[in-house]
This record gives sequence, C-alpha cells and structure tokens, in this order.
Amino acid sequence: MSNTPFNPEYQTNNIEGKIITALERISESFRVLLWNESKQHGLSPIQVQILIFLSFHEDEKRKVSYLADGFNMTKATVSDTIKTLEKKGLILKEYAPNDTRSYFINLTSKGQKTSNQIANFTQELQHPISKLDDQAQKDMLQYLLGIIKHLNKANIITVQRMCFSCSYYQKKENQHFCKLLNQQLQSSDIRVDCPEHQQQIGVVNLKN
Ligand code: SF4
Repeated sequence: MSNTPFNPEYQTNNIEGKIITALERISESFRVLLWNESKQHGLSPIQVQILIFLSFHEDEKRKVSYLADGFNMTKATVSDTIKTLEKKGLILKEYAPNDTRSYFINLTSKGQKTSNQIANFTQELQHPISKLDDQAQKDMLQYLLGIIKHLNKANIITVQRMCFSCSYYQKKENQHFCKLLNQQLQSSDIRVDCPEHQQQIGVVNLKN
C-alpha cells in the first residue's frame, strides 16, 4: 500500500501525510517526556498521569471508574495502579460510609509533593507553542479540537470534561453556546478539561 503517510514518497507531495507524521512525532515526544519523568521518580508513566490528575480534580472524579474512562484503560488496570501507588505511600483510599466497595482516591502529602514535582513534564512541548502569536494558538486549538471531536465520534477516544460531550453545550446557529455559563463560546473558549462539565447522556463511553 503506497498511499500511506508513512511512505516518504507519498508524503513528499501530500500535506496530509506530513501532518499525520508530524502528529506521530509529537505523540512520541509526549511518551518520551512522560517516560523520562517517570524514571526520575521511580514511577510508571500511568502512575505519573494519575498522580497529576488526582492533584487537580475533585472527589467525584477521583474514582477508579472515572479514571478508567478518562485514560481509556480498564478498571482492573487502574485498580492495580492505585494499589501500587498506595503501597508507595502516595495515595490513600477514602471509603464511602455505607459502601465498602466504592472509594475516592486522595493524595497523601508525599503524593502531593511528588505531583507538584512532576506536573510540568510537558514544558518542552509548551515552549514552541508559547512562541506562536495569539491567532496562531487559537487556530491550532481549533484544528486540534476538530480532530479530537472526530476521534470521539469514531469511538476511538473518550472526551470527558470537554464541551463537546457536555450536557450544557449547545450549537446555536453554528455558534458554540454554554447553557451553564449562559454565554456564547468562541472557539478559543471551548474547554478541554472543564470543572463544571456534565457528561452528556448518549455520548459513547468506550469502557462501559
Ligand atoms: S459547563 Fe464547561 S464543558 Fe460544559 S459547555 Fe460549559 S464550558 Fe463547556
């Protein structure tokens, strides 16, 4: 098959192929940065991601099922990761009073300290983006949101906490609108990780 972005000859005259290959390199950089940070702290990449997530999200989102959906992983894998983090003294489980099977995951002070140290592992990725002017950043965000929206529709990734999967989100006369904030959203206002997000009923959840 010659019409693939991975064929350099096809790529030469095909800008889509170049974009796909560029996205692959960026995805690889993310993995390398995450891996480097993990090694420095004696953690696995998913342990790093979960510690950072726990540091910035409220109770209801600090649960195994939510983490499994958010990271596109099985509940069993997340439970194993949580057990390991508990053994390392980085998290504590807080059980609901009448339900010993359900728990929130809290960071210990050691976990919080570690999370503070690792939370900036994407700095080298941020650097070139911060050099773009305001309009270029807005354009880039819009293109990326379009790709994410398509990948969600194609059942490849979940998009928790994004406007596109939120019950408060509306498209009015081709404009984005948030019913909670009661305001129109510019493309640059579309949120990727919104604290007020309410999961839309009927949005595909790959892990359920
Ligand atoms: S509540 Fe947040 S995620 Fe939902 S539409 Fe409004 S801004 Fe977007």
